[in-house]
Amino acid sequence: MTNEVMVDVRGLVKRYGSFTAVNGVTYSVHKGEIFGLLGPNGAGKTTTIEMLVGLRKPDEGTAVLAGYDVRKEVNGVKEVIGVQLQSTSLFELLKVEEILHLYASFYPRHVNIDELIEEMLLTEKRRDRIKGLSGGQKQRLAIALALIHDPEIVFLDEPTTGLDPQARRTLWDIVLRLKERGKTVILSTHYMDEAHVLCDRIGIMDQGELIALDTPGNLVKMLQSTSTIEFYLNDPPEEGWFMKMDGVKEAALKDTFVQLYTDDLQQALTSLIEVSSQHGLEIRDLQTRQATLEDVFIHMTGRRLRES
Ligand code: ATP
Repeated sequence: MTNEVMVDVRGLVKRYGSFTAVNGVTYSVHKGEIFGLLGPNGAGKTTTIEMLVGLRKPDEGTAVLAGYDVRKEVNGVKEVIGVQLQSTSLFELLKVEEILHLYASFYPRHVNIDELIEEMLLTEKRRDRIKGLSGGQKQRLAIALALIHDPEIVFLDEPTTGLDPQARRTLWDIVLRLKERGKTVILSTHYMDEAHVLCDRIGIMDQGELIALDTPGNLVKMLQSTSTIEFYLNDPPEEGWFMKMDGVKEAALKDTFVQLYTDDLQQALTSLIEVSSQHGLEIRDLQTRQATLEDVFIHMTGRRLRES
């Protein structure tokens, strides 16, 4: 990563009628950085990316990509960006290598297609029709198409949504390799584990706004709690019972489900036993775990990233 700013976004706003989908988003991304936009469905991640890649016109604000202004220098922007969108539709009847050659023909310069196929782990599928590919293979092909003109900035919109765990991990490796080659990557996701593993910095979006921006480690540190205790009760409890417990910094309750945040797990568990015998509570399915980005999101908004 270098200090060179590749993406500079200032005060971006997008309205649909009276509804504001993106409300004054500002951030910058350095060369070689993987920057994640994390947020629940409808947070405004896709709309933000669509404004950066020139698919939607911002109502307010500016964005400059590798020195090109997205409002005024569209051709320059097109040269330096590669885009994989959720809605990328591929010509299903073409073969993998055919579509790559077709896309390559759109550009004056392109990367070596054999190498690209190998890098995206599609060698065995190169002569197969696109319609027969798995979800993960289609996503890798969509990324290959985004990379064909060797762009400096790569946009990936929820690249692993709908993929099985193994296909997700394969894709993570591919994204990390892009970074190794000095590409700047902006990706959106609603998977916190993905954001944590891949991203150098994360912007958490909620209801059109960037509510936090930092490294994954610092975001979790911000909670000032290192562990979470989760369990179910037979009846909904009173919040006050848990907030007064020694060692508990914060409690989140949803019906009979309780989450306690602590940085002294031993102390919190001891207090929990005391409180449960005091109030005759029956605790089920107790688990303890390290605090995650999901906890940061719950802490900031009172809601979960993904409704289960
Ligand atoms: P997802 O994870 O579902 O893609 P997202 O964070 O990418 O979510 P956006 O797709 O950017 O969210 O949508 C932000 C908000 O703007 C949503 O409430 C959505 O319904 C709304 N929206 C998006 N496109 C339009 C449109 N063309 N007209 C009206 N509202 C829209």
